[in-house]
Amino acid sequence: MIIVMHSDATPDDIAEVVERLRASGAAASVSTRDGQTVVEGSVDARLYEEAPWDSFPGVERVYPSVRGGRQVGREFKSENTVVAVGDDVSIGDGTMVVVAGPCAVESRDQMIGTAQAVKEAGARILRGDAFKPRTSPYTFQGLGKAGLEILAEAREITGLPFVAEVLDPRDIDLVSSYADMLRIGTRNMSNYALLREVGLGEKPVLLKRGRGSTVEEWIDAAEYIHSAGNPNIVLVERGVRGFDSSARNTLDLAAVPVARRLTHLPVMVDPSHASGRRDLVVPLARAAIAVGADGVLIDVHPSPETALVDGAQALLPAEFAELMVSLRSVADAVKNPFQTP
Ligand code: PEP
Ligand code: MN
Repeated sequence: MIIVMHSDATPDDIAEVVERLRASGAAASVSTRDGQTVVEGSVDARLYEEAPWDSFPGVERVYPSVRGGRQVGREFKSENTVVAVGDDVSIGDGTMVVVAGPCAVESRDQMIGTAQAVKEAGARILRGDAFKPRTSPYTFQGLGKAGLEILAEAREITGLPFVAEVLDPRDIDLVSSYADMLRIGTRNMSNYALLREVGLGEKPVLLKRGRGSTVEEWIDAAEYIHSAGNPNIVLVERGVRGFDSSARNTLDLAAVPVARRLTHLPVMVDPSHASGRRDLVVPLARAAIAVGADGVLIDVHPSPETALVDGAQALLPAEFAELMVSLRSVADAVKNPFQTP
């Protein structure tokens, strides 16, 4: 259970809540987020009913944990969740949303040129990372704050919101101050401290499936974010590690309808990171829309052969534009009409 205190709550108000939690046998921890104190009681559904927590002095709101289920589960809420990104994009409303851009921001020209091209072709959200999770510590790690500034300029020019990865709880405030949506990558799906921290904020979160995680574990990871207070979560299937090295990962398309049945959250697919191969991105993206994904994430780069990260899977802007045409046909065929700006 999470208890968010008013920004003008007194130390006595906070102490009273903590004492009452401890008297109920709960572990209580206190932290500060955006100037507000947050008191967290150990995750036990009984606690919520133990006292009228929201009428304690200084308490602004209370998020319960759910008895016998998950807040992200269909058993908790049967209608689909629709996640708003920026001023006018909705993910999960039955229309197709395409996120596109380079894997990493490398320069102003590269990011802004790509952003203009993908906007022209019909992408609704830009991607491009300033902080990259690289397998080797000696390879390009991203431009950091300078990359976020370039992304903000790309948004200004195109009018498209952007999503960027956050790797470290210490960077959440920085990335959130620029990005419209945060991404938790495959390597961090089980980083519960990071999940909780993005859960304490309000920015929508794209949560990638861990490359060795089951669908249940992925949904439990989403529960960490939701139970901390942030319901704005979109799941992303991006392939799991298999035995076959013909593609970088094995795209688990069954995970899309399985996750849809188990949760009310939107589900998207990243065929670029799933396959690692340009020639597989187009057929896998079409398949993702056909199995009912709410959209896809596509890597696009103006000169993939010189890309600092993931060039082998990036489409050229012209290839992306062609892909968009065929995705609209697939979306129409499965009655999932493309969302026009
Ligand atoms: C990415 O989208 O750039 C990325 C690193 O993806 P993943 O975490 O799925 O590997
Ligand atoms: Mn990448």
